Amino acid sequence: MPRIAVVGGGIAGLSAATRISRARPDAEVVLLEASPRVGGKLLRAEVGGAWVDVGAEAMLARRPEGVAAAVEAGLESELIQPLTTAALLRNRGRNARLPVRTLIGVPADLDAVRAAGVLSAETLERIEAEPAGGPYPPLTDDVSVGDLVSERFGAEVVDRLVDPLLGGVYAGRADAISLDAAIPGLAARLRTDGGSLLRAAAASLPPPAAAGSGSGGSGPASLPKPVFASVAGGLTRLPEQLAAGAIFSIRRSTAVRRIRRTPDGFELSLGAVPVTELLTADAVVLATPASKASMLLTDLAPVAGAELATVESASMAIVTLAFRGLPTSALPAGSGLLIPVVEGLRVKAMTFSSQKWPGVGAESGVFLMRASLGRIGEEWVLQRADDELVSIVRAELESITGLAATPVDTHVQRWGGGLPQYPPGHLARIERVRAAVAEVPGLAVCGATYDGVGIPACIASAHIAADRVLAALPPSGQWINGRR
Ligand SMILES: Cc1cc2nc3c(=O)[nH]c(=O)nc-3n(C[C@H](O)[C@H](O)[C@H](O)COP(=O)(O)OP(=O)(O)OC[C@H]3O[C@@H](n4cnc5c(N)ncnc54)[C@H](O)[C@@H]3O)c2cc1C
Repeated sequence: MPRIAVVGGGIAGLSAATRISRARPDAEVVLLEASPRVGGKLLRAEVGGAWVDVGAEAMLARRPEGVAAAVEAGLESELIQPLTTAALLRNRGRNARLPVRTLIGVPADLDAVRAAGVLSAETLERIEAEPAGGPYPPLTDDVSVGDLVSERFGAEVVDRLVDPLLGGVYAGRADAISLDAAIPGLAARLRTDGGSLLRAAAASLPPPAAAGSGSGGSGPASLPKPVFASVAGGLTRLPEQLAAGAIFSIRRSTAVRRIRRTPDGFELSLGAVPVTELLTADAVVLATPASKASMLLTDLAPVAGAELATVESASMAIVTLAFRGLPTSALPAGSGLLIPVVEGLRVKAMTFSSQKWPGVGAESGVFLMRASLGRIGEEWVLQRADDELVSIVRAELESITGLAATPVDTHVQRWGGGLPQYPPGHLARIERVRAAVAEVPGLAVCGATYDGVGIPACIASAHIAADRVLAALPPSGQWINGRR
């Protein structure tokens, strides 16, 4: 029986193992996870007696992979969508409406940006005049989103709009995030045709969505699909369910320390150094963050290992507060608030979880909100004890919303190196990694480092890796006496 080892039990590893084991029931698929639990950046905790995600909390529903994985895992009837799409943007010490119809903050509809009231008249005029300016030759190289937007519309648009939105996804700064990676449709248009950024952004907008319609992506076909989805009880139930329904074996608390090629395939060294266990495998999927993948590729594919060693990652913390007995208007309406760096606060985003998702906190009668801290290069913000982080969040929550109530419970979740960074040139770097990995038959890589940090992108990369490994396995019948 062929054995496939999947290293890393985050959403990518679980998705790869699920796909391989479904396609090859004759194979032994073993998922090796270093920590005592699977799920990786998907984790939920009980705060104030209610379950809430303390890592990833929403998946893009416009891409099919996340919702499809939940449906296949038997969670279709438990898919939920946000109660509201309205969100706020902190702007010059006040709360403004987050502009709609932007591409991760890049203006695509001048009227919508004007209506939000976050940009100066001078900047709005500059955006309006941009289509008639130029010439704007086609882009030849990958650029940072921040540099492009700053050049066309001015720095204010980056500081006030693009940075907070992109920062929410990557915990990075707009001037160091690749246009090709972050907004590929827009990059493709500007590469082919050049021309106005405003026009290209408008042409790249997806059709308008209406949250509140459909049901978790499975509503009537005539209704637009919601942009985001989650699962009742927390998005973390997705990896939990994938693990519960697994037709592959899962070994928790089993770190892979080294992988070596052998004449028959691979040999993995597992566990603590003095009591290392060796596991042979015919194929390996590496689904760990870049730093670990880099280390594990040192012997197998040194060029890929060296490329992955250059991937930086941002650390973050999610601070969750549970309140009891809050009046309904205690917090501003909407799903939450984004805070640009230029506002000088330490919190970068707040999610009013009990206002955003149906049922969150309801079973124990608490109101849950979470705050996110930490961007690339801002590790100092996180170098504080948990209770200090809670105090910072409470103080900034009060200054923004006036809410001074004492929470009945708090939770601090740290995510050291939680989000890989996608600077200009990242996609070319990943092509080089994949080319080097492809030279080793039966080896594949997947996860947040490769094709996007969002959950659907991680699942998509897992499917690519799984298909690559499946293609390298001989057909079922060719496995005689358990060996080739
Ligand atoms: C705070 C936070 C909030 C986020 N919010 C969202 C969101 O709302 N929506 C969204 O789409 N995305 C969000 N993301 C991004 C998304 O959650 C991640 O990109 C994604 O979950 C990563 O999945 P992964 O499987 O690639 O890696 P991980 O989840 O990091 O899993 C990798 C696994 O590999 C294991 N591992 C590492 N080394 C070894 C080893 N040597 N041997 C065995 N196992 C090993 C780790 O323990 C881990 O379990 C968020 C990320 C963070 C940090």
